[in-house]
Amino acid sequence: MKRLIGPGAVATMTASGVIHSGGVLVEGDRITAVAAYDELAELYPDAERLDARGAVIMPGLTNAHTHLYGLFARGFAFGASPASFRQILEQVWWRLDKALAREAVHLSALCGLADHLRCGVTTIVDHHASPSYIEGSLDEIADAAEHLGIRACLCYEVTDRNGPAGAAAGIAENVRYLKARRTPALFGLHASFTLSDETLAAARRTADDLGASFHIHLAEGPEDPAHALIHSGQRTAHRLAKAGILRPGTFVGHGVHLDEEEAAILAYTGATLTHQPHSNMGNAVGFPRILHMRERGVKVALGTDGYTPDMLETLRAAATLHSHATVTPSAGVGEFANVLLKENPSLLSTVFQQPIGRLEPNAAADLIITDYHPPTPMTADNFPFHLYFGISSAHIRTVIVGGRIAVLDHRLVGLDEEALSRQAQHVAGQVWKQI
Ligand SMILES: [Zn+2]
Repeated sequence: MKRLIGPGAVATMTASGVIHSGGVLVEGDRITAVAAYDELAELYPDAERLDARGAVIMPGLTNAHTHLYGLFARGFAFGASPASFRQILEQVWWRLDKALAREAVHLSALCGLADHLRCGVTTIVDHHASPSYIEGSLDEIADAAEHLGIRACLCYEVTDRNGPAGAAAGIAENVRYLKARRTPALFGLHASFTLSDETLAAARRTADDLGASFHIHLAEGPEDPAHALIHSGQRTAHRLAKAGILRPGTFVGHGVHLDEEEAAILAYTGATLTHQPHSNMGNAVGFPRILHMRERGVKVALGTDGYTPDMLETLRAAATLHSHATVTPSAGVGEFANVLLKENPSLLSTVFQQPIGRLEPNAAADLIITDYHPPTPMTADNFPFHLYFGISSAHIRTVIVGGRIAVLDHRLVGLDEEALSRQAQHVAGQVWKQI
């Protein structure tokens, strides 16, 4: 079936720039033409029409690091007053993840993915933990993603914090899921400070056999380099590089506590550093010197760490944080818009083995129709400023992933949100009793 979307200001993210009064023709799961709307309407008179009412049409957004399993922490009174990053893990996240059983894994994923779609996010990279329900947990998330039609790259976080059996079960879940090839996947590891040399070596051997790359947290809090120095005499990135974990295709989250040599190690190994500004500020762990690391050749992507499903808010937070922190008012917007609109999609096009994040023939038909009518002239050059100062998730009206309409006129398609909310609240209540 052919579907013609427009007319609107089509922000192509290609050399074509912004096509005003433009249209996008979608056939199956791909884009087949992007041009002036009237031209496409004449060429394809039989195509089904989707009216964009003259507003901005842009590629779907991507989230390079999140934790869907964290959703049921929302509103729970943990009774905690953590004074450090380690205490945040111990008093909140490691109590929550142990309480998740099959239904909770599935429903937290479904609710979290629905939130992403509402924000125009069509591709996510998740990092999952549910130590009481490991085997099969990634299929529960894949089922939820399939139901909603969102693209998801999954992994299970291996850690030694639940003993040798827990670590072995985590490795087995990654192997099982990577072999099934149901969705793109990475080999998940928690963080250097909860992984022994033996577990790192086992993960490396197993991932090598499967040709997989890793997804791991790196130097998020000061505990990680302290542990690496005490136990291996090296800083965290040295330890992980020597263990063979840092490689092209590996995603490392945060990198807040890295020194100059470690930045060079990231650049040399080709691993991608994901930046989660809300999480770093909320957890009060400091912030990574992203702009400096980009200058040093480190590949950077933007994620959310589960703090929000909203990548436009994440762009605003990142740009504002780094302008403020580097006392350089001009530093942030262009750099982080570039990361969100070009580097995230380029990285994830490799992971998903198809062009995403660009509106051009043969690219995946992942796009957003907004309600945003620019009040000032909009060009490819100033589009980042319309994103930073103008477009918010409230403007996202319709979302298409792989040619399938996932959100239509602000409503999720194929999902009874009231019924889901009732079911999720019931299961969240059970989880809260377990914590
Ligand atoms: Zn994380």
